[in-house]
Amino acid sequence: MSTILQAAPEAAQAPSGGRLNRLGAYTPSPAEIEHAARFRDYTVEYRPIRGRSITHHEDGFSRIGQISVDHDARLFKLYPYPHATTVDVRQMERTVAAIRSGYWGALPWQTSETGTQWATVAVRTSARRESEWPEVRVCKVESCQHFREWHRVDDEGSVRHFAVGADEPEGSPWQVGLQRTDDGPWQVSIDYAPDRPLTELEVAGLLSRIRWVAEDARRLNSPAVQEVPC
Ligand SMILES: [Zn+2]
Repeated sequence: MSTILQAAPEAAQAPSGGRLNRLGAYTPSPAEIEHAARFRDYTVEYRPIRGRSITHHEDGFSRIGQISVDHDARLFKLYPYPHATTVDVRQMERTVAAIRSGYWGALPWQTSETGTQWATVAVRTSARRESEWPEVRVCKVESCQHFREWHRVDDEGSVRHFAVGADEPEGSPWQVGLQRTDDGPWQVSIDYAPDRPLTELEVAGLLSRIRWVAEDARRLNSPAVQEVPC
C-alpha cells in the first residue's frame, strides 16, 4: 500500500494549537467526568466516507478519520478514511472510550451546517506504518453479521462477509454459515473439525442445516435484497 501524502483539507478547519493531539495530555474536570455518563449507552457504528484521504502532518500525527455524535439516536458514528488500518480503527475506539470517560473537551469538535458535532481523529504517524498493519473496510452489507462494523482487507484486496441463518443446534460438531466477498454471491460455508465420526442423527441434522442455509443464500442473492446506501 502506498503512503498517501497530500494537502490536508481539514487542517484549515481544525483549531490551531495542536488540539488534535491533546487526548493524552488532557485532564478532565470532575464536572466533565460526571457529564460523560450520558455517553455510556451510546452505540457505535462505522460508516464509509468518500472524498477524504489519510494525511500526515508535521506535528507527527496522521489524520485518519472522523467521529460524529448523533445525540437524538444516542449514537457515535465513526468514519475511517479510505485505506485506514487496524491501528486507525483501534484509535477511533479509544477515542470513544475517552469521550465516555470525560475527555469530550480534548477533541477539536466542530459543528456542521446541519448541527452535527464532529471531530477529526489523529494517530501518531510513527505508530501506524501502513505496510505493517492490515487495511480495513467498513461493512455495507446489511445481511452481514458485521454490518456497520469493519472487516480486514485480505491480500487480494477483498473482504469476506459472514452471515448465519437459524441458530446452530447446541453442541454441533460443525458450523454452517454463509460467506461472500464484496463482489460475489453468498455461498454456503461448512466448518467441520472431524475428531470423530458423525452419528446418523448428526448426519441428518447437518444435511438439513445445509439445505436451510442454502435457502438463505438463495434469498439473500435475489435481486430484491440490496446493499444499503450509507
Ligand atoms: Zn460484512
